Amino acid sequence: MNRRFGKTDFIVLAVVFAVLVFAVIFTAFKRKQGEFVVISLDGEVYREVPLEKDQEIEIKKEGITINVLDIREGKADMRKASCPDKLCVRQKPVSKSGESIVCLPNKVVVEVKGEAKGDFDSIAR
Ligand SMILES: [Zn+2]
Repeated sequence: MNRRFGKTDFIVLAVVFAVLVFAVIFTAFKRKQGEFVVISLDGEVYREVPLEKDQEIEIKKEGITINVLDIREGKADMRKASCPDKLCVRQKPVSKSGESIVCLPNKVVVEVKGEAKGDFDSIAR
C-alpha cells in the first residue's frame, strides 16, 4: 500500500495541531489570569484589590505609609517601601495567580489570587 500524504492526514494533523495550540494558549491564559491581589499586613488581610483597575495603594501602619503598591496594566508592583533592604521594590511586578511580593521588614505580603474559576488553585491548596 503506497499511501501518500493526503487530505485526510492533513486534516488530522491540523486538528491535532489546533488542539495543542489551544491547550497551550488556554494554559498560559489561565495562569496569567490573576484577578486580584491580597495585601496582608502583620499576617492579617489588609486589603483585597482587583488587578483590572490601575491604581496606587498606600499600605499604612499606625497612620504611616510603609509601602506603596502600584497596580498597572494588570500587574502589581511595589513602588515604594520604608524598609531598609528595598528587596520588595526590586522584585518584579506580579500578575499571575500564586505569585507574590514579600516585604519582610514591614511584614507586608502581596499575593496574586485568581477567582473561583481557578479550580486548579483550590485543589492544590
Ligand atoms: Zn520591603
